[in-house]
Amino acid sequence: MINSRDTKDLNPKTAELCKQFIAKCKDQHIDVIITSTYRDAESQNALYAQGRSKPGNKVTNAKAGQSFHNFRVAFDFCPIINGKAQWNDEATFTKCGEIAESLGLEWAGRWLRFKELAHCQFTGGLTLAQMRESTLLH
Ligand SMILES: [Zn+2]
Repeated sequence: MINSRDTKDLNPKTAELCKQFIAKCKDQHIDVIITSTYRDAESQNALYAQGRSKPGNKVTNAKAGQSFHNFRVAFDFCPIINGKAQWNDEATFTKCGEIAESLGLEWAGRWLRFKELAHCQFTGGLTLAQMRESTLLH
């Protein structure tokens, strides 16, 4: 079961954008940590079970193959202030989201459905269905 926080587990393009994102946030005096990069199918399904068949709060609406994390093109982050993760600091998340967008990343803080302040992705315009298909081909 793999639930990575390592940028090395992203595809090369997304890894590069993620590193630029961290550096640009730092330029703006915001430290961010990366809390999730690649998740394998097993790990995604375990996350989906949380708040459904397992205890805890629901954290995702995606089963295996339904999250861009499964295709190494998404990462989650959290701003850190004085050593503490600021999960509820929407203003700082928004600043970071704007930095991500300036680099060409898609920031899920803009999504109207399943808005997710912590989530960024670089899909190259591909849908999940197209990603699943290309994975099957390779
Ligand atoms: Zn995410």
